[in-house]
Amino acid sequence: ESERLRLPPWLKTEIPKGANYSHLKEQLRSLKLSTVCEEARCPNIGECWGGGEHRTATATIMLMGDTCTRGCRFCSVKTSRAPPPLNPDEPLNTATAIASWALDYVVLTSVDRDDLPDGGANHFASTVKELKKLNGNIMVECLVPDFSGKSECVKIIALSGLDVYAHNIETVESLTPFVRDRRAKYRQSLSTLEDAKKHNPEIITKSSIMLGLGETDAEVEQTLKDLKNAGVDCVTLGQYMQPTKRHLKVVEYVTPTKFKHWENVGNEMGFLYIASGPLVRSSYKAGEFFISSILK
Ligand code: SF4
Ligand code: SF4
Repeated sequence: ESERLRLPPWLKTEIPKGANYSHLKEQLRSLKLSTVCEEARCPNIGECWGGGEHRTATATIMLMGDTCTRGCRFCSVKTSRAPPPLNPDEPLNTATAIASWALDYVVLTSVDRDDLPDGGANHFASTVKELKKLNGNIMVECLVPDFSGKSECVKIIALSGLDVYAHNIETVESLTPFVRDRRAKYRQSLSTLEDAKKHNPEIITKSSIMLGLGETDAEVEQTLKDLKNAGVDCVTLGQYMQPTKRHLKVVEYVTPTKFKHWENVGNEMGFLYIASGPLVRSSYKAGEFFISSILK
């Protein structure tokens, strides 16, 4: 067995906390809202919650529980074939909590719920509708599963009133069967993104790629092309980090220079925005990027 790679210096840096960070954190305590940002101890929390130049604070909320029906080899979320049923009050309660929090951009995400006939699409959509009713100004991104390619589920999300439809392709085509759950398919992920745009041409679509899993440069470039051909507007690229010893090993720590290269390649391909860097996660500063791309 090969030794684990040593953590390079660019992944060990101090994390700066933005101006708005402590304010949001204080509010959160009274709202009983749990964020992926805090639970996953995301290194970007200072930047996302603090907002940047445009002071657009972003946070990520997980819907539909903490137990997934799938088991991807990079992900530490727990797995079960039969997770507990959905809480029917969750859409309204979550929307109320988010609306009373001083947030500008929210990412709603979830585990995969292959046990539910609609994969949870209506649950997502109700949350978006309640939230937009309470706060018409907040921008909403849904980072959703592939719904096993079911177009009717994609449609429910695409027409829910959201601003950004996100689904992560995660890795290049050749590595997909080793990295993602066997039910996830590279082509199926691309087609759900394309489908979302067909149902609602007004929305922005977005996807994310993890690097450092053994993919080649040619494969990364091909994945960017495939996303572009599927009409995807925004892409984020970040370093894969092994969550526990039982998960896939990191094959390579991709250098910041290489990430910058992918940002340039993506910009040349004409994406609306590309966020690419070792610590970038799919929701990284999403609000800031969204606003600056609109103002472009
Ligand atoms: Fe994790 Fe999503 Fe895969 Fe479930 S489907 S194991 S939550 S990455
Ligand atoms: Fe939260 Fe996502 Fe930003 Fe991390 S990258 S702090 S999870 S919004």
